Amino acid sequence: GSDLASLQTRAAEDGDYYVINGQKTWTSGAWLANYFYIVARTDQQAPKHRGISEFVFPADMPGISRIPMIDITGTEAWNDVFFDNVRVPKKYLVGEKNRGFYQIMHQLDFERSGMERLMGNYPLFYGIIKFVKETKHNEQPLSRDSLIRNKLAQLQIEFDVGRLLIYRVAIVMDEGRSPTYEAAMSKVYCTEFEKRLANSAMDILGPYGQLVAGSKFAPIGGLAPDSYLASKGYSLQAGTTEIMKNVLATRGLGLPS
Ligand SMILES: Cc1cc2nc3c(=O)[nH]c(=O)nc-3n(C[C@H](O)[C@H](O)[C@H](O)COP(=O)(O)OP(=O)(O)OC[C@H]3O[C@@H](n4cnc5c(N)ncnc54)[C@H](O)[C@@H]3O)c2cc1C
Repeated sequence: GSDLASLQTRAAEDGDYYVINGQKTWTSGAWLANYFYIVARTDQQAPKHRGISEFVFPADMPGISRIPMIDITGTEAWNDVFFDNVRVPKKYLVGEKNRGFYQIMHQLDFERSGMERLMGNYPLFYGIIKFVKETKHNEQPLSRDSLIRNKLAQLQIEFDVGRLLIYRVAIVMDEGRSPTYEAAMSKVYCTEFEKRLANSAMDILGPYGQLVAGSKFAPIGGLAPDSYLASKGYSLQAGTTEIMKNVLATRGLGLPS
């Protein structure tokens, strides 16, 4: 969660092994995973940011179990994962023992650009533009409706702004720097864009927009309701919008933490 330093999953040393006990909810794609990359507490006495380490190990080790989480779209893309006395050889420690919190903060800068949210929804954006060009309402093409044109033009502006923010993340990485506040800004923007796009799509499609994939009457293959429901979760994963704004405030604007 947001307060990662308070995590309770433990990795206790036992000879050449760490013995891991704990659980993780909302693990994306865990049912497909061949390996798990986890953080666990390796020092119970140290200040909470300093007693955490990272591990990567095969997902089929004894003591690991997963149960599905079905989200509001009906998809089983996530799992609760449980670690019960999982004996992990010490060679699976990543980086430095007890420095895991700092390592993962750095790694998260690379996960958070929101690129997949902007581009992942391009088919919906493209589909809506095509839909309004091809569909009539009261004998008039939807593409002539000034409210719809206004919404689509606004989304195009926002889409291009999102792209530029993502390019900036890529440039910072190319320069060998960690894109901390740049990625935070881009993640906030692109995940919030996704919600605005889905809202506009539902408005434009009207009642048919609620039909999900599988219905022959669902416009754009049912992409709109899927995005409408799923987009809420993407502004939580890998750091919520509020946490990203905290990162921006401190690391970008130099405000006190
Ligand atoms: C779709 C999805 C996929 C995910 N995939 C994974 C995955 O693959 N692996 C994984 O490890 N985790 C995954 N997660 C978990 C995700 O990282 C957490 O949900 C996220 O970090 C938020 O933590 P939380 O759910 O515990 O909410 P909390 O941390 O309890 O936050 C609850 C609310 O309080 C706000 N809040 C908390 N602290 C502050 C603060 N200091 N200032 C202002 N507001 C604050 C938050 O913004 C949020 O609105 C996923 C989550 C989702 C929704």
